[in-house]
Amino acid sequence: MTAGIEKLKTSLPAGAWTQDPDLIDPHLREWRDKYFGKTPILLTPRTTDEVSIAVKICAAHKLPIMPQGGNTGLVGGNTPQGEVLISLKKMTAVRDLNPTANAITVEAGATLQSVLDAADAADRKFPLTLSSQGSCTVGGVLSTNAGGNHVLKYGTTKELVFGVEAVLADGSIFNGLTSLRKDNTGYDLNRLFLGAEGTLGIITAATLKLFPKPGYIQRALIGIDSAATAVALLEPFRAGGKLAMFEVMPSIGYRAVVDNFDNIRDPFSEHHPWYLLCDWEVETDEEGLNIAETVIGKAIENNTVKDAIIALNQTQAADILSIREHMSAGQKFLGGSIKHDITVPIDKIPEFFERANAAMQNVVAGCRPVGFGHFGDGNIHYNIAQPEGADREAFLANWDALSQPVFDIVDALGGSISAEHGIGIMKRDDLAQRASPVKMKLLRTLKNALDPDGIMNPRVMV
Ligand SMILES: Cc1cc2nc3c(=O)[nH]c(=O)nc-3n(C[C@H](O)[C@H](O)[C@H](O)COP(=O)(O)OP(=O)(O)OC[C@H]3O[C@@H](n4cnc5c(N)ncnc54)[C@H](O)[C@@H]3O)c2cc1C
Repeated sequence: MTAGIEKLKTSLPAGAWTQDPDLIDPHLREWRDKYFGKTPILLTPRTTDEVSIAVKICAAHKLPIMPQGGNTGLVGGNTPQGEVLISLKKMTAVRDLNPTANAITVEAGATLQSVLDAADAADRKFPLTLSSQGSCTVGGVLSTNAGGNHVLKYGTTKELVFGVEAVLADGSIFNGLTSLRKDNTGYDLNRLFLGAEGTLGIITAATLKLFPKPGYIQRALIGIDSAATAVALLEPFRAGGKLAMFEVMPSIGYRAVVDNFDNIRDPFSEHHPWYLLCDWEVETDEEGLNIAETVIGKAIENNTVKDAIIALNQTQAADILSIREHMSAGQKFLGGSIKHDITVPIDKIPEFFERANAAMQNVVAGCRPVGFGHFGDGNIHYNIAQPEGADREAFLANWDALSQPVFDIVDALGGSISAEHGIGIMKRDDLAQRASPVKMKLLRTLKNALDPDGIMNPRVMV
């Protein structure tokens, strides 16, 4: 290993590597303090060629590599345990923005927020929004196939990519950058890198799809009595094809936000068991108000909805979105939290809650399920907060005991144990146990073909 590290230091320009523990430290701990890591060296290349040089040296010396973007991943795939850490954070350029093709080509270390801003400045929309958008990067969102709040209308990241540029495990550069909507010349190689979590190569740039900016976004926050009511409202709310966001929050998570953050207030005068947050993308504010008042009015008439706030201006709209954006951070106030990111078919959401909530109490009596998220996609962030007053570490020791029944129920309902965060380290063994042998064989065949020496993020996924 030492010879390889020395070669990296002499071959890369000054400033493209460091072994300073103070500079490396923020890259070794993740957002929730769940994983802590170590690395012999942090590389911060500025160009695709520098990434290529680094990977060629690692390949020659069989040094394992971990790519890192914004370090906001939630499954441990971004925390090194001895791998050479390659951070893309210095590769942030917008290489091209083509409004006619509705395409933007941007380097992998650019934050998602910078892509949203660049698209907006060109009077376009890039429809991927996550609470971590200020930190997470293009390389990270592509590598995890991130989801977020607008999958309902625009799909996951996989649907938003024309092509990628990636450095392969031997250091060669695959250039799939294109804005072509039609290219039937063989396997879709670009897609191999989407959701691959850095196991097949390092994404260095991508051409992303842009969309027309909607004339107006109508937002509403709605008080409801149950998860089943949320599911029942999906059909009437999406009639007309304008619904772009359908997010659900239980009271316990909602209160953890509105009761603890000084700059966030509860717009309702009464408490509700559940809250539904919706966006409709429309042409004018008049059209938005009309849609929201009509569908919500009908739901109030038939007693499905208890109360609603229909945003009348951008400030109100931003304020109510802020509650949803703080759902993850808010749960820190509930103590230890065991997290699941699962999908089930949308009509099975109520049954999932019924079965999973009961199963959780059988494992840790008094634990508090906080199931929130993208119900319009069947995606529930099914977090379990510790019982009130319990010891945090003792509760977190139940991670596996609580997760296995959740995954069993997900499997029984035809769902997925990872909706949008990926496999990483956290779910690697679960994937191996629960996926079909044929799927595992295909995954491993692809991995071996593209990375025969197993140097690309070797502890992750397969
Ligand atoms: C508060 C909060 C809210 C979140 N909300 C959502 C959400 O709504 N939806 C969602 O999908 N996710 C969400 N996430 C998870 C996370 O933000 C996403 O997974 C994001 O895509 C990770 O991007 P990143 O740049 O931080 O990647 P990192 O965390 O740095 O890396 C994630 C994985 O991608 C690999 N990787 C990173 N860059 C590259 C590259 N250039 N080439 C190859 N592999 C690479 C890493 O090796 C690792 O395996 C949330 C996280 C937080 C902290």
